[in-house]
Amino acid sequence: MNGNEIRQRFIEYFTQRGHTLVESSPLVPHEDPTLLFTNAGMVQFKKVFTGEEKRDYSRAVTCQRCVRAGGKHNDLDNVGYTARHHTFFEMLGNFSFGDYFKEEAIRMAWDFLTKEIGLSPAKLWVSVYEDDDEAYAIWEKIEDLPPGRIVRLGEKDNFWAMGDTGPCGPCSEIHIDQGEAVACPEENCGVDCDCDRFLEIWNLVFMQYERDEQGNLTPLPKPSIDTGMGLERIAAVAQGKINNYDSDLFQPIIQRTCQLAGISYGANLRADTALRVIADHARATTFLVADGVLPSNEGRGYVLRRIMRRAVRFGRSLGLTEPFLGEVCSAVADGMGSAWGHLGESRELLGKVVRHEEERFLETLDHGLGMLASEIERLQGEGIKTIAGDFIFKLYDTYGFPVDIAKDVAQEEGLQADEEGFGAAMARQREQSRRSWKGGGLGELGPGFKELLERGVKSRFVGYETRRHHGTLV
Ligand code: ATP
Ligand code: MG
Ligand code: MG
Ligand code: MG
Repeated sequence: MNGNEIRQRFIEYFTQRGHTLVESSPLVPHEDPTLLFTNAGMVQFKKVFTGEEKRDYSRAVTCQRCVRAGGKHNDLDNVGYTARHHTFFEMLGNFSFGDYFKEEAIRMAWDFLTKEIGLSPAKLWVSVYEDDDEAYAIWEKIEDLPPGRIVRLGEKDNFWAMGDTGPCGPCSEIHIDQGEAVACPEENCGVDCDCDRFLEIWNLVFMQYERDEQGNLTPLPKPSIDTGMGLERIAAVAQGKINNYDSDLFQPIIQRTCQLAGISYGANLRADTALRVIADHARATTFLVADGVLPSNEGRGYVLRRIMRRAVRFGRSLGLTEPFLGEVCSAVADGMGSAWGHLGESRELLGKVVRHEEERFLETLDHGLGMLASEIERLQGEGIKTIAGDFIFKLYDTYGFPVDIAKDVAQEEGLQADEEGFGAAMARQREQSRRSWKGGGLGELGPGFKELLERGVKSRFVGYETRRHHGTLV
């Protein structure tokens, strides 16, 4: 079953059971400044769960586009290193707003996985919150769940809260044991292990309490259900792959990069990591630009810039010295355009944005990578295992060389990057520039001049940004 078919099956399964199909909301959440990006299916329903907003349905099904690359959920550093994390992914979810509760949610999820997708019950495990006897008892009644497969876990993994106050409740997660083929370094590897062997497929959240400022839990009169399952994970599992990137959702993108670089996937571990990171980041780039995010130096745009630059750097490690990311993003839009119609509208903009960002960055990158390589060589010669924070800061400050990339390169060479030292160097420089402004020559020039200068600096900056976004690009 390919990814498109699974998405379709999920939607049909739940619409046949009385759920209304609701469109995915955009990646930039409306009216929610606390959130960088939409990171779960429930985000667009927050107010429905709290009761502030009413809808004309009490059951919903969605396929929500999500990004977890900043804020509370940040999987950026996992990408390429685990088999299951992406920055951009699709979350399939069914929701009950005061309608059905645990029993039906559990039965439907189990039935979907074992009957519709055909997963073998022999490989499945479930977790419940330590105090949730109700969920435990429901799982015990599931005939084909082998005995001994229900595990009680604590708050960190199995209790969900919308915020410090508000709706919250226990969760139950469904995991698949992918077997010993997925090597785990932990001795007591099990369902609560953070490795890829016991892969978390689906999270069922039982919203049954309201938490007040003192932390007291009051039962909600009409408890609700919020679930989330990563399409990329279930697709890989359904296709017998233990790495998400080996499923049909990623392979065409990876193959396009292979073609551009003249290499094959599966021939070299390091190159495979690069190919996966590029595929992930190209998807994130394509979807973020389509939702109106443009690379910039702050906020959402900065996250996008980091993602794009990281992709370009990994491309460079595959020998791609000319702009290539635009081509890979085109492959994303080609492959996903039928499921995500809105990608078509932004294709032209996407091409321009990506090319421009990549050209600008390639100059910086060459220079920085060269300096980093000779520093690493020097350190290795002296048997030193850490790249100094000051050095990374100099690269960043003088050449705009991203810290993430310095970290990736260090890791590949078996070195550490001194992030703390980097932070200290950054703080020192901030302090210095603050002091020189206050005590330096400018103070003596009088407020008028200072203001002029400030304005000049600002307008120069704005002019530069404007030229970039509206002159060259659009
Ligand atoms: P994990 O423990 O593997 O990081 P999670 O507990 O953070 O996952 P949830 O917040 O419960 O994930 O999200 C619901 C579902 O969304 C998960 O069960 C998983 O299938 C999927 N998912 C979560 N994060 C990612 C990601 N970064 N990439 C792909 N799928 C994801
Ligand atoms: Mg996670
Ligand atoms: Mg988890
Ligand atoms: Mg989870």
